[in-house]
Amino acid sequence: MGLYVSNNGSRQFEKLSLDDIPLAGKKIMVRVDFNVPIDEDGNVRDFTRIKAALPTIHNILDYDSSAILLSHLGRPEGKRVEKYTLKPVAKELSKLLGLTVKFAPDCIGPEVAKMVDELGPGEVLLLENVRFHPGEATNDPEFAEALAQSGDLFVNDAFGAAHRHEASISGITKFFPNCAAAGRLMMREIRFLDRALSEPRRPFIGIVGGAKISSKLKTIHRLLPRVDKMLIGGGMAYTMIKAMGGKIGDSICEEEYLETAREIMMGPEAHKIVLPKDSIVATDLEYGTERQTYPSDNIPDGWKGLDLGREARAEFVNYIREAGTVFWNGPVGMFESEPFATGTRAIARNLVNLTADGGIAVVGGGDSMAALRRFNLHGPMTHVSTGGGSLLEYIESKPLPGIEALTDRSVKL
Ligand code: AMP
Repeated sequence: MGLYVSNNGSRQFEKLSLDDIPLAGKKIMVRVDFNVPIDEDGNVRDFTRIKAALPTIHNILDYDSSAILLSHLGRPEGKRVEKYTLKPVAKELSKLLGLTVKFAPDCIGPEVAKMVDELGPGEVLLLENVRFHPGEATNDPEFAEALAQSGDLFVNDAFGAAHRHEASISGITKFFPNCAAAGRLMMREIRFLDRALSEPRRPFIGIVGGAKISSKLKTIHRLLPRVDKMLIGGGMAYTMIKAMGGKIGDSICEEEYLETAREIMMGPEAHKIVLPKDSIVATDLEYGTERQTYPSDNIPDGWKGLDLGREARAEFVNYIREAGTVFWNGPVGMFESEPFATGTRAIARNLVNLTADGGIAVVGGGDSMAALRRFNLHGPMTHVSTGGGSLLEYIESKPLPGIEALTDRSVKL
């Protein structure tokens, strides 16, 4: 997907990329993914996605062109919601680029047109959240056309949003016939994932965690057919354990998903699933609270499973040590609280070791990234993807609308 096999047998990107388009002296619209966490004081909490967009922006500025950046942030649902303004991102991006990034108070309209008009070579303009307009989510052609007014060329560098059929991702490309290209980050993600996951080095191990099974069902369904083993940890494991008749005490459980969990555990690929044998349990999350270890299917009432127990940790780590490829999505315990971070840290550390030994560790999804940052292990991992949903759809070999909509390479410029 996204790649084709060329005459010489190598797999190549089938869409135009930044390297194929004449960049010099242009106003270039770039769809980036600046959907970053922002705290109540308006400070950006994580810079990963902003930094990931820098190579494309630098590339554009190197050619004396200007960059007009489009992004979404959060879910304002088609109206202006102040806490979802991209303004704080403009400030941080300015620091990272070492120049003043201009900020437009909207993403369409006369004021934006004026700012774009006045934009000089080597300048960067960030437009306000595209999701402040209802036309973004509905992929409204009129809105897409209005957005497209701001640039000569279009570049999509938002891998994290490539699975969405939205105006600034797919609809907009119609208004850039023959000149909608993939940016550096998009290329990097696709090249890497293609190499790592199309024919993964085996054993291929999936690790899925997080609080709720409901939000990870798709992940489980998508990964199960591809992996050799699927390790399931975190809060979601307890719904599965209860579904199989286990006693989980006061651990988090989604009663309405017990039946679905049971179906997975009784399904044809259930033999691949590994649940934590034991759990570290506590009555609450306070520091200094007594911790105990219990079999995960025999937790007393009043106690919650909050991390992998020692046996489960050793088993998970062994699978990682023997793996060729590991795909990790979601923490296996309440890692934000130090006493319950041991299992998640063990996974992160062993993925670093796997990387160092030439294995492939792919990490995706917001909370696993947050865990890596907490443990300071972000750097030494084979690949930390900026994608969540898009990464999963990629793994499933589904065409991503954001990539499909780009100009085919066969088109002569
Ligand atoms: P998610 O957003 O579904 O990926 O869930 C991430 C959250 O799951 C993190 O904030 C973790 O603290 C939380 N989590 C992990 N393990 C558990 C657990 N055993 N019980 C409750 N929450 C958990």
